[in-house]
Amino acid sequence: MSHAEILAACGLTAADLSGGTMNVRSPIDGTTLAQLKETPVSDMAAIIARSQAAFKAWRNVPAPRRGELVRLLGEELRASKDALGALVTLEAGKITSEGLGEVQEMIDICDFAVGLSRQIYGLTIASERPGHRMMETWHPMGPVGIISAFNFPVAVWSWNAALALVCGDPVLWKPSEKTPLTALACQKIFDRALARFGDAPEGLSQVVIGGAALGEALVASRDVPIISATGSTRMGSIVGPKVAARFGRSILELGGNNAMIVAPSADLDMAVRAIAFSAVGTAGQRCTSLRRVIVHESIRAELVARLAKVYASLPVGDPRVAGTLVGPLVDNAAVEKMQSALAQAKAQGGRVHGGEVVTQGVPGGAYVRPALVEMPGQTAVVRDETFAPILYVLSYTDLAQAIEIQNDVPQGLSSCIFTLNLREAEAFLSAAGSDCGIANVNIGPSGAEIGGAFGGEKETGGGRESGSDAWKGYMRRQTNTVNYSTALPLAQGVKFDV
Ligand code: NAD
Repeated sequence: MSHAEILAACGLTAADLSGGTMNVRSPIDGTTLAQLKETPVSDMAAIIARSQAAFKAWRNVPAPRRGELVRLLGEELRASKDALGALVTLEAGKITSEGLGEVQEMIDICDFAVGLSRQIYGLTIASERPGHRMMETWHPMGPVGIISAFNFPVAVWSWNAALALVCGDPVLWKPSEKTPLTALACQKIFDRALARFGDAPEGLSQVVIGGAALGEALVASRDVPIISATGSTRMGSIVGPKVAARFGRSILELGGNNAMIVAPSADLDMAVRAIAFSAVGTAGQRCTSLRRVIVHESIRAELVARLAKVYASLPVGDPRVAGTLVGPLVDNAAVEKMQSALAQAKAQGGRVHGGEVVTQGVPGGAYVRPALVEMPGQTAVVRDETFAPILYVLSYTDLAQAIEIQNDVPQGLSSCIFTLNLREAEAFLSAAGSDCGIANVNIGPSGAEIGGAFGGEKETGGGRESGSDAWKGYMRRQTNTVNYSTALPLAQGVKFDV
């Protein structure tokens, strides 16, 4: 399909795509896809007020009925999967299967949220007073501001929106300025679900198009009680304190510096495949991309030799072409950052395999060959997240040291160990093991399922989204005590007779 056909299949019209000054380019070939009209910052107060009005109605709709809207959203996403997946490829540069996979993730979280809409449970708690019942009730919070990154241009919205909507909260989405078209396409899909649903309030899900200033308006507003922000640690370090200063709630999903420990007993065939997928998939532009391999010194030479062979033959190029495994970086600035990190790695003692800028056969795009970098130790550049396919190789002599190296970075998102030794696997998952939000055994660090809670510690921000009980982040907990007796006993045996 041509660019124009993909945009049309997503329902984006000429009026949607033109008339503004915000240039949207495809990382595949650099062509301009649209010149969008930005949302004026001065419109934000009215947009937030609309969301608040929607909240006042939506919070009274029974949760299973709210789930029906999300069920319809899942149906519409199924019908639009090919078109939206192709747009993710066009706008973010993901290979075809990853573009489709991202839409599948949206469908999966909708299914999860539909089930959740009938399972928003609170506890009943034993009261210490006779004739009393104590319980907790979960209530909606209000509008959720979603600030998202370019690398998961649609899934991150759906992780938040599907849960927020069944929890009774409207959503206000500020997508990355690099990927606004997929956001507009999602809004159209949502509108179709809304039309089928019938009686939902206006303004339940809104999209605003523009840069950081729009995000700042959401962050500053007391009428947006929850801010779910996904992006760099730099962004989170600005957003987090601002939300905290107004006693709002933030869900921060920030950068990662994910590692794999490869132990002497590891199944190396599996480890090599897992490393390749997690280090070079999405051209190293996943928050969970593998950035560090910490390999036992006894198998380092063998592993590096095998990886160097795989790296030398990776198909880099047009993400729409079958067989391509490494598509483009999002833009030329990302290429420059990668080259700068490789220069620093060399200066810090690294030996670089690959990493070259690729120009042959792919005009206009930002293509690179993934880099494998043997490092003498965990130097400054290794401790930084460079959002590109660079994999640093470090070595260790005993497991405690490997875990120490793994944890000795500012970020704490995802981690894994490849071992067939039960003691090592359990030690890695123990309280003294990985300090990350995600810790896996014999699976790479990327490609999480939606059923688990997703997020990480330290500079990754501490937020949790998606499965498990992450829904509690979108609701307020109320503790209720009901006295059905004729007396008024006080807790802790306090006497207060008047
Ligand atoms: P980015 O921080 O440049 O931008 C993310 C979003 O924040 C954009 O929408 C941007 O407009 C907005 N923003 C920037 N400054 C802001 C401010 N001061 N106030 C409000 N909003 C602001 O990130 P990016 O380059 O789009 O994405 C890559 C980064 O995102 C990587 O660090 C990656 O690890 C991280 N990421 C994390 C997760 C996760 O779940 N932990 C998922 C995806 C991406």
